[in-house]
Amino acid sequence: MAYCMALEYADRETLRSHQIGRLNQLLADVLPRNRFYADRLRGLTPPLSWGDFASLPLLTKAELVEDQASHPPFGRILTYPEQDYIAYHQTSGTSGRPLKVIDTAASWRWWQECWRYVYAGAGVTAADRIFVAFGFGPFIGFWSAFESARAMGALLIPGGNMDTARRLEAIREQQATVVLCTPTYALHMLEQARGQGIDLAASKVRVTIHAGEPGASIPSVRQRIEEGWGARCYDHAGATEVGAFGYMCECQAGLHLNEAEFIAEIVDPVSGRPVAEGEEGELVLTGLGRAGWPVIRYRTRDRVRHGGRACACGRTTLFLPGGILGRADDMLIIRGVNVYPSAIEAIVRERPELGEFRMLITRAGTLDALTLEVEVEAEPCAAQLAHTLYQRLNLRVVVTAVPPGTLPRWEQKARRLVDLRQAAAEQTDAPQVSLAALTAAR
Ligand SMILES: [Zn+2]
Repeated sequence: MAYCMALEYADRETLRSHQIGRLNQLLADVLPRNRFYADRLRGLTPPLSWGDFASLPLLTKAELVEDQASHPPFGRILTYPEQDYIAYHQTSGTSGRPLKVIDTAASWRWWQECWRYVYAGAGVTAADRIFVAFGFGPFIGFWSAFESARAMGALLIPGGNMDTARRLEAIREQQATVVLCTPTYALHMLEQARGQGIDLAASKVRVTIHAGEPGASIPSVRQRIEEGWGARCYDHAGATEVGAFGYMCECQAGLHLNEAEFIAEIVDPVSGRPVAEGEEGELVLTGLGRAGWPVIRYRTRDRVRHGGRACACGRTTLFLPGGILGRADDMLIIRGVNVYPSAIEAIVRERPELGEFRMLITRAGTLDALTLEVEVEAEPCAAQLAHTLYQRLNLRVVVTAVPPGTLPRWEQKARRLVDLRQAAAEQTDAPQVSLAALTAAR
């Protein structure tokens, strides 16, 4: 279904009636053709009521991976014959085997329509020139953003097959007004521009939109990007297997959930019961327009807070304050303390004197330890950072200062977490394994 602004501002009853209608239409398309759901939802006859919907089983990524492993290459989840599919993408595989996800022409158009909400939230229009700082690999996010902007009528400037210097030049030369990239890469371009004496704040760029990582919803990260680029920085949330589901409005306080194209639930990850407004839980999504690769009551593993449905922008869709707060896959347990890497990043980015950083998990005997390497000129800053991390997260972290420009830089999703526990276990013969040696070995 095409982008519909009215649904973003609709009353609850209108939206719910739209959603259940779309769900039943989807099920009518999917159930007779899709072997995965025919098995899973056996005995189900549309039209469903909301009560019926609430009793459907929750779907996990592990089930999709298992389906694909046992029915290669794409699994039984394809609703239509393989020759009807036109777009191939895959998940990043950071939490296991990558999932291969393909779309029909109609399902791929749906992805593009979902991106229209992202652009509308950020005030991007057909008059914009959009530079996409992305290598055009199998990561779905910026492919769909690119094609959606083209369909909207904006001028698209592809930034594939370019190093950072050439991208900075292209942004200036072509007078781009919007830049799409991961938040990590926005910071990296900023750093490189400064090194080359380029002031990005003086460029024509007025909006940056980010995906792939939670950074743009972390206030300290967003502030750093906005100040450096002289632009407004917007977050977006999506997932290859689900769609482009979350976007920021001009209030920039979190994400709106696209309830025109998804049914959103926030549940307690243990009991599966819905949480109340103000509480945190796991986001569960049902896509309403992707019949070619449908997900019904899918556990995203994203931890979010239920922020109700009132926002100063006037939209009435579910609001997630602070965006995606963390991913179940990312959570670390260090000496009994649960911590998300995004919480550490939020604290690092508050201090402008700190550059790139990296987290190393090591094991001494039976105890895990977290070392944070951070690029900084002055050693005392490291000690101060360790103190702040302990105060805010109740977590003892060894903070090591490293010279600026020495840690890896990232173009797409950053991999700032290095788990050295396995490496340590394999080297138990060595009497003393230094952190430096283990890091160098990777
Ligand atoms: Zn809003």
